[in-house]
Amino acid sequence: MDFLRNGILFLSTKSKKENTPSDVIDNNMTDLYRLLPEEMEAMVIGMGQPRYRADQILHALYHESPKDIWDLHQLPTTMLDEIVAAGYTIGSANEVHRVVSEDGDTTKMLLNLVDGTLIETVLIQYESSKHNGHPRTTICVSTQVGCAMGCVFCATGQMGFERNIRAEEIVAQIIHFAQLLRKREQHVTNIVFMGMGEPLANYDETIRAIRLLTNQRAFGIGQRSITISTIGITQGIDRLADEDLQVGLAISLHAPNDKLRQWLVPTAGPHSVEDLISAGRRYFKKTGRRVTFEYALIDGINDSPKIADELACLLRGNGSHVNLIPVNPTAGDFERPARGRILAFEQILNDTGINCTVRVEKGSEISAACGQLRTDVVESIKRPQMHYKPDKLPKSD
Ligand code: SAH
Ligand code: SF4
Repeated sequence: MDFLRNGILFLSTKSKKENTPSDVIDNNMTDLYRLLPEEMEAMVIGMGQPRYRADQILHALYHESPKDIWDLHQLPTTMLDEIVAAGYTIGSANEVHRVVSEDGDTTKMLLNLVDGTLIETVLIQYESSKHNGHPRTTICVSTQVGCAMGCVFCATGQMGFERNIRAEEIVAQIIHFAQLLRKREQHVTNIVFMGMGEPLANYDETIRAIRLLTNQRAFGIGQRSITISTIGITQGIDRLADEDLQVGLAISLHAPNDKLRQWLVPTAGPHSVEDLISAGRRYFKKTGRRVTFEYALIDGINDSPKIADELACLLRGNGSHVNLIPVNPTAGDFERPARGRILAFEQILNDTGINCTVRVEKGSEISAACGQLRTDVVESIKRPQMHYKPDKLPKSD
């Protein structure tokens, strides 16, 4: 198992293949953060305790961020003993590193999970866009360690897949930032599933996390404040549309035709561009929520006026929104297009009546793109005689 001592992270020599989703957390402990309110009630009732104990635990979990069972001061010691004896625990992640951008708007946390796996989470604050007098505060969570989809421009995709992140580990990412924000008298206003991994390839844990996060007796954020971003697993999109959830959906399109898309997303195979557009349409019909198409703009690859025309043709009259993301040069030999070329691309879409925005870049100097901080840290560890020290993070290339 990897561990941190004196600020130095030691990585185990265990091969990635051994680290399968089923064997990573086999210590027979259940994190209380995994339990939905009705499950928490069943647990306390099973212990012969009154129902209100469940709400006391939930309140403590989501408003006080206890570090272990013994921090649940509201409960009698005998009950705490019983909870521990029954195999419950608290806490699926420890913060091992934090980086803040120069403007202070973006904070990136590297968390160490109980099996030593490293994952990253980003907080982005938009001072200019206030929400009830508070800055919009978005947390970008990871759903998988690595990703099997292999997108050529994505640092996570280039790591390969290690394991799925469990619901309580997804919730832990939010809890860490919620605690930090509480100290500033701020709160989480939005959650986007746009960190490491493909959320719809880890469907059940992602949905459980969303149910925990949106339940008023648990974290209690509005369903409409959550957005799931997917590379376009159409069966997952249809399943999501059938849940009684009102979450936003973003589909990562990146190309207007299958040939180019399959080059950028090597695993896109079974899902054609047309399939994705239809899945987006079905999602809108079922949920009433308009879908956003994300499009990573890469210099000389998918940013020409001709391709913009093709994209405009594809999406015309669809009512969707396009989010252009100038690529972060993290993986492969990719560059973001010059400003003029980005604006020209945007103009072509706007001229066709397609609602389109260019994503404001946040925190690029702290490797805020998907999978980058972890890549930086792990790369530094792999180099001989270089260790990860919290005060000395190597810069990304
Ligand atoms: N797997 C999901 C969600 C995580 S990636 C998905 O692909 O949608 C979240 C977003 O970050 C995606 O739109 C993805 O295309 C984008 N992204 C990944 N690497 C990027 C990079 N190097 N530069 C810009 N955007 C990137
Ligand atoms: Fe996976 Fe999304 Fe990265 Fe593609 S862009 S490799 S789907 S995380």
